[in-house]
Amino acid sequence: MSQDSIPVERRLLLESISDYLAQLGEEGLEGIPFEAPPADARAAAAHAEPFVPAPSAAPARHHQPVAEAGPELFSIYPGLEKTRTLEELRQFIGDCKRCKLAASRTNLVFGVGNPQAELMFVGEGPGADEDERGEPFVGRAGQLLTDIIERGMRMRRREVYICNVVKCRPPGNRNPEPDEVAACEPFLMRQIDLVRPKIIVGLGTFAVQSLLKVKTPISKLRGRWQEVRGIRMMPTFHPAYLLRNPGDKRLVWADIQEVMKALGKEIPSRKS
Ligand code: SF4
Repeated sequence: MSQDSIPVERRLLLESISDYLAQLGEEGLEGIPFEAPPADARAAAAHAEPFVPAPSAAPARHHQPVAEAGPELFSIYPGLEKTRTLEELRQFIGDCKRCKLAASRTNLVFGVGNPQAELMFVGEGPGADEDERGEPFVGRAGQLLTDIIERGMRMRRREVYICNVVKCRPPGNRNPEPDEVAACEPFLMRQIDLVRPKIIVGLGTFAVQSLLKVKTPISKLRGRWQEVRGIRMMPTFHPAYLLRNPGDKRLVWADIQEVMKALGKEIPSRKS
């Protein structure tokens, strides 16, 4: 049966189910048959292959502003708005126990990189490796992010700034809960204000949905410019998702090319 012969309502329903399952798959739910990568791709992912940019001609995107959070965001933590550097912000956060994630963390994972970075990556929250080392994106997904930055973008990891929506690891790598995000969000917003990057890259469903306050699946949001606190934000897939779905690296590369264009960087024309 061709796509055209499926009634519109049924096609929309199928697309909606497909998006939902894709989102669940990205969040790590097992047993979603049509999202599972082929055996050879899984084998490749198991070896954490480095990110190699694939050539693609991404269409031009349009700027889509989204309402930003106002200064009242900081009102739950008086004095937060007075922090003037990342060091001051880190001191303000201190040995934070402002949400229940504090109870199970090993290290608070604040962020790493250039305090005046043009480019900022925002992920969801620390995983086991990050919790252990106190640094964001240091496990297999972190290595892939480093490959995207260094082999794909031809930048140094230390040139960019990397952080997460929540600073403490959710137990069992579950998604952060709304009260935890609400407690930690002012810190991320202050981090964004202080670094003031030219471009933010939102990594994965949870980070992007938290930044934009929407429930739209990442499959619909990726590749389309958004705006967070007056800064252009490109949503794309999380590196952990790419480890499970290496075929989608070409989509991330298309998004990264848009970011490079916005930063005025030359796009490599050949695989490296
Ligand atoms: S997740 Fe954020 S608000 Fe919660 S304890 Fe950690 S730093 Fe504090």
